Amino acid sequence: MKVLVTNPRGFCAGVVRAIDIVEIALKKFGAPVYVKHQIVHNPDVVNDVETQGAITVENIEEIPERSVVVFSAHGSAPDDYEKAKKRNLKVIDATCPLVTKVHNEAKKYSNEKKSIVLVGHKGHQEVKGTMGQTDMLLVDERKNFPKDKIKKLKNVAVISQTTLSVNDTAKAINNIKELVPDAVIRNDICYATTNRQNATELLAEKCDLVLVIGANNSSNCQRLKDVAKRMGVPSHLILGPQEINYDWLKNVKTVGITSGASTPEKMVQEVIKAIKPESVEYIGGPPEKITFKLPQELNQ
Ligand code: SF4
Repeated sequence: MKVLVTNPRGFCAGVVRAIDIVEIALKKFGAPVYVKHQIVHNPDVVNDVETQGAITVENIEEIPERSVVVFSAHGSAPDDYEKAKKRNLKVIDATCPLVTKVHNEAKKYSNEKKSIVLVGHKGHQEVKGTMGQTDMLLVDERKNFPKDKIKKLKNVAVISQTTLSVNDTAKAINNIKELVPDAVIRNDICYATTNRQNATELLAEKCDLVLVIGANNSSNCQRLKDVAKRMGVPSHLILGPQEINYDWLKNVKTVGITSGASTPEKMVQEVIKAIKPESVEYIGGPPEKITFKLPQELNQ
C-alpha cells in the first residue's frame, strides 16, 4: 500500500502564533499562565503547554485575581475582557488576527446600522466570540435556513466563521443573496482553511481512503473529512495511530493523509509509521509562508 501526504497540511500561522504566545508568556511571567479555552483545538498541543505550566480553564471566574491569562486563538467576546479587567488579570490575546478581522467587520457594520448575518456553526468557540461583538443573526448551514427572519432584514451585511466548508458556505451565501440581493457579502473563510480543503480535494482524487489527522472538536479537521466524503472517498478523522481501525485499510491501494490547522506534524508521522506503507509520497504545493506578529508586549 502507498501513502500520499498532502501539502499544505497541519499548523497554520494563527495556531503557531497562539502556541508561541503561551510558551513565551510562561518564560516571561513564569507558571502558571492560565489559558481561556483550549489554546487550539488539539489535545496534544493542550497537554504540551500544560506540561510547561499552562492551566486551561473555560471561565474567567476560575482564574485567581492578578494572574496572567492567554485568550485562545478562536477569539473571545468583549464580556470576557470586562470580566478579566474586574479580576485584575493580565490578558495576552492569542486571537488569530484573521478572527479579529471578523470581529472588526462586525463592529464596523454595527456602527453603520447594518443588520448582520453570521454564517457559522452554533456553539463553536469562534462563533461565540464573534456573536458577542454585537447583535447578529446566525445562519448555521447544517440546520434549518431561517428564510423568514432573513427576508425581514434591511441593509444586510454577511460575515462568516473562518473555518467552514468553502462549498457549503458559498451555498449558504447564495441562499441569503437570493433573499436580499443587495446584501454586502464578506466571505471570511481563512487562507489556511481554503488551502487545506483545496489540497484535500486533489488528494482524494488519487486515493481509495483519506485519513484526516486531528481532533474531533476541530472544525477545520471535520471539514477536511467532509471534503473527501463529498468526493466519494471514504474518510476518517483520527487523533493518532491509536484510533486507526485496520479494517479500513483492507484492499486499499492508496491512502491519502492530511491534517487540520491545529494538528502537530508528529501525529501525522506517527500515523504513517503505524500503517507501514510500501512508499510515502508528498504531493501538493510548497509550504505556506504566512506568519503573524506576536502581541507587542511579548515582542519586547
Ligand atoms: S485556521 Fe485560519 S482563522 Fe483559524 S487560527 Fe488558523 S489562520 Fe487563523
